[in-house]
Amino acid sequence: MTAPLDVLVVGAGPTGLALATQLRACATPFRIVDRSLDRARESRAPAIQPRTLEMLSAFGVADDLVDRGSAAVGLHLHLPRRVLHVPVFDVGCDDTPYPFLLFLPQSETEAVLTARLAERDVTVERGTELLSAEPEDAHVRCRLRRRDGAEETVRARYVVGCDGAHSTVRARAGIDFEGYAYPQTFLLADLEAEGLEPGVAHTYMSAAGLLFFFPLGTPATWRMIAMHPPGAPGGEVTLDLLQRIADDWTPDRLSLCDPVWMTSFRIHNRGAAHYRKGPFFLAGDAAHIHSPAGGQGMNTGIQDALNLGWKLAHVCRGAAPEELLDTYQAERAPVGHGVRRLTDRAFTVGTSSHPALRLARTRLAPHVAPLLLRATGARARLFRTVSELGIHYRRGPASVTGPRRPRQGPRAGDRLPDTPAGLQRRVAGPGYHLLLTGPAHLWPEVPPLGGRRDLVSTHHLGTRSPWPGITHALVRPDGYVGYLAGGTDLTGLRTHLDRWLPAP
Ligand SMILES: Cc1cc2nc3c(=O)[nH]c(=O)nc-3n(C[C@H](O)[C@H](O)[C@H](O)COP(=O)(O)OP(=O)(O)OC[C@H]3O[C@@H](n4cnc5c(N)ncnc54)[C@H](O)[C@@H]3O)c2cc1C
Repeated sequence: MTAPLDVLVVGAGPTGLALATQLRACATPFRIVDRSLDRARESRAPAIQPRTLEMLSAFGVADDLVDRGSAAVGLHLHLPRRVLHVPVFDVGCDDTPYPFLLFLPQSETEAVLTARLAERDVTVERGTELLSAEPEDAHVRCRLRRRDGAEETVRARYVVGCDGAHSTVRARAGIDFEGYAYPQTFLLADLEAEGLEPGVAHTYMSAAGLLFFFPLGTPATWRMIAMHPPGAPGGEVTLDLLQRIADDWTPDRLSLCDPVWMTSFRIHNRGAAHYRKGPFFLAGDAAHIHSPAGGQGMNTGIQDALNLGWKLAHVCRGAAPEELLDTYQAERAPVGHGVRRLTDRAFTVGTSSHPALRLARTRLAPHVAPLLLRATGARARLFRTVSELGIHYRRGPASVTGPRRPRQGPRAGDRLPDTPAGLQRRVAGPGYHLLLTGPAHLWPEVPPLGGRRDLVSTHHLGTRSPWPGITHALVRPDGYVGYLAGGTDLTGLRTHLDRWLPAP
């Protein structure tokens, strides 16, 4: 049997790859295994949200993703008898370097992350399946089967299930996955479509349901998603069926051709009862699955991973207490729950055959939607939610606001907003970042870091704070503010550091 590992990552979809990227950046010993011989080649999740790009930029991959994808800044909402042109993320997203929705096939996202890992000498062990995982003393005893059929026993301090909706880790940990399946079946195709304005997303809203075209770019220009029409034959998805839907559900003359991928799928709404149970953790689809409405699924998984990786790294190297790992459940379970609720509402309004909702889609929407879209505040709140920039951990146990915080500006638990000077990029390196503002003589004895110097970088931002009144803030390795305060009293900061990053 080999020496114990710190972390075994099970599953190398986008969630597992993101976790591995962060563990590698933190120099944590780990292995990542996936039972499939090759990474996904289908486009699957096509949308990357601004917050995911911000978080991935810390590992130098965001620019590569942006270069490969198409940034959509507009949506054409085709309502009965009128088309609304909706700018996407034009309000509520002014504090991010990525104020757009990036369309890129999941296969490309996985390729970029895999290449990044390879550059850092990390190999994804493909064709390696987790068969069992049993807690035993201080470790989990995991049985793996490799592609040649040979079995190997590995001991790991922590096991993270990034192994998708049918998670083996979840089953082995005995964690329930509660929820329900929607009755509808959906059709999905990557293809060419003549007659659509390029570079924007299109949503057709009709009595029958919703039809979407997203500007995918590669491996085909468009991703089409539609509800399977009631009464239409089941079985294999054909171009004829898709063309019939386009003819019946749109007033436009759309001509579909050259499909690269056509499939059908059912949608579930389920969540894990726990995100952590002892040495087991769940992330991504293993923890939550829901409708693709709003393009949240893969993004939420990647952000789960980037919430967890640095915590595992700090605990494994003895720099943080074991309780830090409990904050994963406290911070991410409400996010997963919120995404399930949001996507369920959007899905129900968009697809229900209830007469009231059909009426709302066909008769009310053409009158009400323009008014709603003109309400800038409501639109900003919507975009803040969909872009995932609004995710915060203000009520989490590791978010503390110190004395003299002004009413304006970020709060403890918020993500660090970007500034015109590119603050996010400046504090993108691994570890914590202590931001200080005001004249240098105010901070004669800073940093109060003792033996933590290799885990905390200090940045003097000059005399003017980007957020008037906030003089010092501690930014966590995942870009969220753990502590902030006004004034020059560092007692609160010291207490916070002693709790979550005790000096050796
Ligand atoms: C057909 C299809 C279309 C989709 N369309 C959309 C969309 O339009 N929008 C959207 O947001 N999302 C969409 N999704 C969902 C999106 O793909 C997922 O949210 C995303 O892949 C989740 O990533 P993950 O890494 O958590 O899990 P996965 O991508 O499922 O990865 C899990 C990995 O774990 C591996 N694994 C499983 N069990 C084991 C084991 N015992 N041992 C070792 N390895 C194991 C699997 O081989 C797999 O590679 C779609 C999914 C599918 C299948």
